[in-house]
Amino acid sequence: MNFLGLELLKRFLLRLGLDLRKLILISTILTVSGLFVVSVFILNYVIKQQLIQNSLSVNERYAEKIATSTNQHFADMLKELEYSAKVLEKNFYNIDLRKSEVERLKNQSDNFNSVLLVGGNKHVFAFSPSSLNFNFGQAYNSLGIVESTEKKKTYISTPYWSVKNNLLVMMSQPIYNGKDNYLGMISGSIYLQRKNLLNTMLNTQYDYKKSYMYVIDQHNRIIFHPDKNRIGEKIINNTGLDFINQHKNGSIRLKNSLGIDNLAGFAHIPSVNWIVISQQPTDALLAQAHTLLFKVSVGIFIFYLFIFLLVWWISNFISSPLNRLAKMASMLNQHDIQDKIKKVDPWYFEVLKFRTSLLLSSENFRNRITELKQHVNTDPLTGLYNRRGMEVFLKELVNTQTAFAALVIDIDFFKKINDQYGHDQGDVVLKTLAQIMQTNFREHDICCRSGGEEFLVLMTTADPLVAHKAAERLRLTMQDNQINQMGKITISIGIAFWPKDAVDVAAVLKIADNKLYEAKHSGRNCIRSTVKSSA
Ligand code: GH3
Ligand code: MG
Ligand code: MG
Repeated sequence: MNFLGLELLKRFLLRLGLDLRKLILISTILTVSGLFVVSVFILNYVIKQQLIQNSLSVNERYAEKIATSTNQHFADMLKELEYSAKVLEKNFYNIDLRKSEVERLKNQSDNFNSVLLVGGNKHVFAFSPSSLNFNFGQAYNSLGIVESTEKKKTYISTPYWSVKNNLLVMMSQPIYNGKDNYLGMISGSIYLQRKNLLNTMLNTQYDYKKSYMYVIDQHNRIIFHPDKNRIGEKIINNTGLDFINQHKNGSIRLKNSLGIDNLAGFAHIPSVNWIVISQQPTDALLAQAHTLLFKVSVGIFIFYLFIFLLVWWISNFISSPLNRLAKMASMLNQHDIQDKIKKVDPWYFEVLKFRTSLLLSSENFRNRITELKQHVNTDPLTGLYNRRGMEVFLKELVNTQTAFAALVIDIDFFKKINDQYGHDQGDVVLKTLAQIMQTNFREHDICCRSGGEEFLVLMTTADPLVAHKAAERLRLTMQDNQINQMGKITISIGIAFWPKDAVDVAAVLKIADNKLYEAKHSGRNCIRSTVKSSA
């Protein structure tokens, strides 16, 4: 696929909103069904080819078997005739012997439909069955009689219509008196359209999937066929005929004279130069291929279904941690996100990597948020909480019903300091006081710069003495602390208590302010509280 095509496909997939699991599922469905179609396709081909090969070889072997036994059968029949010829040559003119020998030959087996004793002059001397009614005083010129008496040796005719109107094949043995004195011949005939041992044998149909067998002679005339009407007919328009005549033994896929595709095996009968052809219509054979294919396909389908379910389950197993992490990536602001991320089991490399990066990201995210919060709630000059931060803590203390002392701190004569040493030095004083405050109070006391040079400390204590002591410690430290060349710098502090002095927080702060005012008026560098301190 070219670059543009791939890009379009990716955009399309993205628009579908597919996740990893669905993508794996879709690719699995495509792969498995593709495999299934290809398997069925190959199977169909292999099964059909195999069936065709089998049928060709079965037909060939069957034709061979029939050809061999037929050949043997002809040899036996010729031997029977030869024996009779031997019996007759000694007593050729014995009329009783002629009669009895002909009768014996005809009746001792089903080999021959008729038996004739013919003289060299083509006169019939004896015959069986009697229904043939040959005239003893007449020469007969049927093909078999003419050719046999002319050749004067072992003879098998081609099929022909006899004088008595039977389609037959005649075989005969010559009768000699001594070496050269030809007396005549003894012949047996096989009526191709009547019952006899030969066609009983050829008729052993093994009617499997419409298989059938027929026999042709060297001129392509049908000697034997399940359809009796076709016996004697000359075959034309059979696409395999040339091949069969050339090879004598073998197999071929051919179209018969009716245009039907057949799988044929064929074999030569040497004694008569006939060919046995056993064949089966290809369609009838392949009909079973469909049933076979269906059964195998069901088996393969169940197997692929199992594979599909397995892959689906595995893909779920693989994609589930990634999927969970991906969802969490958009929820990094949740306070318990780190715990959730830690719960994802990192059982393979990508998940481990992803999980670690996500944990790092959420950590960064959290730090950034804290940092931002700090900026919003702290005073850049002193690093103490600003008024906004102070209000957050006030709310928290009220919500948790934590009693506290509010210490309002103000630098004495700060205006003067500013005027005398400059605004920058004034800022140094503010920073110094903030530092002292942070070391003076405990960690859970909250130090704020409430505005200008005024500070507020929220001490989480209900004990006035503790608050007072801390305030005093701060006052003394500030007083004793020399900042640059500036002289003694003092502070005044007003203290009030929540909820003791008022339920309303603003009122408590106001009271503390008033107490500060009181301290200022009492000469500054002192502490005033709503509770009289014994210290
Ligand atoms: P008092 O003893 O009565 O408190 O006298 P005071 O001079 O300190 O009076 P007041 O508390 O009213 O003075 C507030 C002065 O603080 C006004 C202003 O010049 C100064 N000030 C306020 N904010 C800042 C600041 O951020 N930096 C500096 N250097 N001075 C400030
Ligand atoms: Mg002031
Ligand atoms: Mg002041």
